[in-house]
Amino acid sequence: MNRLADLDWKSYQSRTQHGDAVILLPIGAIEQHGPHMSMNPDVLIPEAISESVASGLTNALVAPAISYGYKSQVKSGGGNFFPGTTCINGKTLIDTIQDVLIALARHGNRRFVLVNGHYENSMFIVEGIDLALESLRRDGIDCNIMLLSYWDYVDQTTIKAVFPDGFTGWDVEHGGVLETSLMLYLHPDLVNMDKTVNHAPATFPPYDRFPPEPSWVPASGTLSSASKATAEHGKLLFRVCVEGIQGSIKTEFA
Ligand code: ZN
Ligand code: MN
Repeated sequence: MNRLADLDWKSYQSRTQHGDAVILLPIGAIEQHGPHMSMNPDVLIPEAISESVASGLTNALVAPAISYGYKSQVKSGGGNFFPGTTCINGKTLIDTIQDVLIALARHGNRRFVLVNGHYENSMFIVEGIDLALESLRRDGIDCNIMLLSYWDYVDQTTIKAVFPDGFTGWDVEHGGVLETSLMLYLHPDLVNMDKTVNHAPATFPPYDRFPPEPSWVPASGTLSSASKATAEHGKLLFRVCVEGIQGSIKTEFA
């Protein structure tokens, strides 16, 4: 069993009090991902990857995911104006990351892996980590924290296999082949391929504008079409991420 919150407190204590457990913390967002898919892939994908990673390590636990993320941006997540996209302020995310890390460290944990599934979260997570480390250090507690986004583990070989017609880049993958393939593999009940919309990858000017302009975003909410997504590709993507992340953790926390 490696889901942290499923343990009773005594079992949790015995596994964590000496600081040799690795705590994985998935961080996502609730955000529309097109008409063909649920709004939680940014949570469910890093959660499933974390659980699989943890099962291959000696003493690793997956903390409950932080399900709400920083505001969806037009050029990476379609934008914050779609019904259902439910986001929090940067400050709230920073505070949440900081508070959760400090609480887990006070239990004795010293090794953390933060697994991000929503691009817009990136620097707010960094800030939460930084403030947590600073505060813990004042109390004489030193922790080691890894931060990663799972898609950075997808190598060129996998990209060629998953995107045989050419890869248009991670920035337009929102609700596209990558996330839809992973969801078809992990949670096929949350995907309906009949509802995918065929459209060319979104193109944007090199600047952002505020307030955001909804007409910049394809009406589907996806930034590229998911129609070529398959569970087979999802399995390939999942494996390469899990194996890569396990390797990184073994390197860092050997
Ligand atoms: Zn996403
Ligand atoms: Mn996202």
